[in-house]
Amino acid sequence: MPAKSAAVAPPADAPPRAPGSGESQVQRALKKLGLVRDIDFALYLPMRYEDETRVVRLVDTRDGDTVQVEGVVTDCEVVFRPRRQLIATLDDGSDTVQLRFFNFYPSQQKQLAPGAKVRVRGEVKGGFVGRTIMHPTVKAAGTPLPLALTPIYSTIAGLAQPVLRRAVQAGLARAPLHAIVPNPMMPEGAWGLREALSFLHYPAPDVAVATLEDHSHPAWQRLKAEELLAQQLSQLQARRERAAQRAPALQAAVDAGSLHAQLLGVLPFQPTGAQQRADREIALDLARTQPMHRLLQGDVGSGKTLVAALAAARCIDAGFQCALMAPTEILASQHFGKLVGWLDPLLAARGRRVAWLTGSQKKKEREAMEAIVESGEAALVVGTHAVISEKVRFRRLALAIVDEQHRFGVAQRLALRGKAEGELEPHLLMMSATPIPRTLAMSYYADLDVSTLDELPPGRTPIVTKLVAEHRRDEVIERIRGQLEQGRQVYWVCPLIEESEAVDLRNATATRDELAEHLGDAVRVGLLHSRMPTAEKQAVMADFTAGTLHVLVSTTVIEVGVDVPNASLMVIEHAERFGLSQLHQLRGRVGRGAAASACVLLYATGDSGRVGEAARARLKAMVETGDGFEIARRDLDIRGPGEFLGARQSGAPLLRFADLSTDLLLLDWARELAPRLLDRHPELARQHVDRWLGTKAEYLKA
Ligand code: ADP
Ligand code: MG
Repeated sequence: MPAKSAAVAPPADAPPRAPGSGESQVQRALKKLGLVRDIDFALYLPMRYEDETRVVRLVDTRDGDTVQVEGVVTDCEVVFRPRRQLIATLDDGSDTVQLRFFNFYPSQQKQLAPGAKVRVRGEVKGGFVGRTIMHPTVKAAGTPLPLALTPIYSTIAGLAQPVLRRAVQAGLARAPLHAIVPNPMMPEGAWGLREALSFLHYPAPDVAVATLEDHSHPAWQRLKAEELLAQQLSQLQARRERAAQRAPALQAAVDAGSLHAQLLGVLPFQPTGAQQRADREIALDLARTQPMHRLLQGDVGSGKTLVAALAAARCIDAGFQCALMAPTEILASQHFGKLVGWLDPLLAARGRRVAWLTGSQKKKEREAMEAIVESGEAALVVGTHAVISEKVRFRRLALAIVDEQHRFGVAQRLALRGKAEGELEPHLLMMSATPIPRTLAMSYYADLDVSTLDELPPGRTPIVTKLVAEHRRDEVIERIRGQLEQGRQVYWVCPLIEESEAVDLRNATATRDELAEHLGDAVRVGLLHSRMPTAEKQAVMADFTAGTLHVLVSTTVIEVGVDVPNASLMVIEHAERFGLSQLHQLRGRVGRGAAASACVLLYATGDSGRVGEAARARLKAMVETGDGFEIARRDLDIRGPGEFLGARQSGAPLLRFADLSTDLLLLDWARELAPRLLDRHPELARQHVDRWLGTKAEYLKA
């Protein structure tokens, strides 16, 4: 069996790569790590350190210590049993130790020739053949000892530690690290910026390493303070920019003849109190000459679509157009179906209609749609990101609604903003079913107003969630039969295997066949998969909605938005592989009608995988609560704010150094300083944001 290559550090004297090819390969690797500008290197902190500042005597070391010793090689040979290896003996005057290498270069063998004086570093282990160091690093003895700890950076294949270390060192030396915000303005006890960064790359050996690991060291405080200040500044800038923007004020009277009133009149139900409140909050925003920037958050099934429809009606009543954009075609078409049903009959009387735009549309149909958008006949345009493609020209766009906003990139949201008339900006309503916990909302989206649907429409029965071990799969299939006999429908979500869509598809197909066989000919089992052509997907969804398909086996394409009230059972296979908010979203597909609904989370046991700690916490949360806000809080706990937000921002985590759960005092400091700095030194503020956030600052604005 070959040794794991990762265990062997390439020797420092390995032959250099051919010039040209090697150079660009290193640069490519550095770029992959996000290392381009000098400042990027300076801010690329080590993940840990090694102490090479001292040489110790072998007699003073204990087994298990990582040590650095110096001595004379007394013996060196290549043996072939039990496997090929290089074994050398080192004598440091106090004791001897064996050095062993399974993989080695001829140059290493030469370096360890008997009589050579060397310095080696590695972990000493006791053993049958005496004390040993496996794969030590080897240097000539007497090389000057470094004065600082040696940084170890996180790296990727093809980028050796010494190469990365040199690159970081060079970047650190060149980076313009003058303090933009002068030291006296920093929180008390924080270090100077250059001083702090130099220290974090090369700490003095007497540092309390724990303060580096838990980020409480004053050098860390400086970085966190700088970063938090940048974040606060960029939010403040965004807020001020928006305050300077103009939007059409939508102030139509909501009298009996208005679309808004008529829509309420044709609804088969009463809006919930929460829906009415959100509608009023939106109405106030729309009446202003500044663009609305509002997030409508509400648990799955809380009825966000109706709030969107009411907002659209207000916009249309004022004589403007509205656009609604959803991240997937299935989701967009569900919205379209619902909105056409509600609004088209009412719009027809006004000579207007709801338009549909998507990438998969036939050219002719699409051009026809584009034409009615441009003429203004389309009062409301629903679709995927095709809505913002360059060809689409609105006549009078005043309101843009974005569903599952975190799944759109910044560029897409910016493009939507550019579609209003002249210098005007459209009002923006973003919808999300995965709420942002309040503390995070405050510090990340200071520039966002939030409406919350904290009430579900009446008549829903809570969903019972059960954990079931995979080997009881047959019982679960029997349970499906029970639901079908009551005329209900069932979702079966297949495992998520990210490495390969082909494998996903195979699994889903096999599951469909298995269920079809077990359940018999009278039961129709359909399959939905992300690789299917759109038309086919829509046909399957239509059949399931109509109730002619009884069981829908699917990969996670049904994750968001799908609305089939008659479905009352959801089975999720390998639930341990899904993220918490994703599980919650999936579960939200049932419990939409009056029937008692259940969600079964099948989890792996034994050979097919072990459920890790985080996965267990996710499953536990699912069983314990059905409240989307509580789920979001737990998700934040399990993942930490960096990942939690990172995942939803389709970019890297926004804060690299500060941690909002522990650095609240620094956050307060930054909040207070930001307005003063921006008022008195706008140019410095801009430089500061650029240095710390670079392009990420855009995420905060869009
Ligand atoms: P989500 O917030 O997850 O997008 P939807 O807008 O899809 O929720 O609404 C879920 C279901 O509840 C839909 O079938 C919708 O028509 C229905 N619904 C919305 N509001 C109400 C209400 N006030 N009373 C009864 N049913 C409602
Ligand atoms: Mg929805």
